Amino acid sequence: MRTRKNRTHNGRLLKAKRAYSFADIAEKLETHVRTVQVWHKEGLKILEDHTRPFLVMGQDLRDFLKARLRSRKKPLKIGEFYCPRCREPRRSRPDRLAAQATQRRLGKTHKQVLLRGVCEVCDQSLLLFSSDRKAAEWTKNGLIFTEPLEVINGSGISSVKTDILKGRENAKSKRQK
Ligand SMILES: [Zn+2]
Repeated sequence: MRTRKNRTHNGRLLKAKRAYSFADIAEKLETHVRTVQVWHKEGLKILEDHTRPFLVMGQDLRDFLKARLRSRKKPLKIGEFYCPRCREPRRSRPDRLAAQATQRRLGKTHKQVLLRGVCEVCDQSLLLFSSDRKAAEWTKNGLIFTEPLEVINGSGISSVKTDILKGRENAKSKRQK
């Protein structure tokens, strides 16, 4: 079995404003390209979902790795995300809070859920790796997710893509034409 060490990947090895293929990223971070594919499934943003190979902006990867690391390190309170821009635990704007179940199992009984939001202080998009159990706690505490807990099945990751596209809308409208 493959050992699952909690490796820290240094996103700073990547230039913020450059686009990288998964292979580039794997090489730079000395990891397997499959790891990068997993990150993609976990919510790592790609530039255009219809181009091959997929391209990832260095900054997006940095943000992703930071959020990932943070979600492992520091237990956040119910309703809190780690905001990479504020560098603080923050709550999401309530109307932008979304939960998304993945097929990934956590232990024997739980499934991974991605919680997403938008920082109520700085508007940074937020991502939290969580579980169906935790998401239920959020709901119990009065937090309402704008999207139902939809399951991402192995083949059609369309819900992920939709979500990525949604997340990119803001960035795009600024950047394009
Ligand atoms: Zn913030």
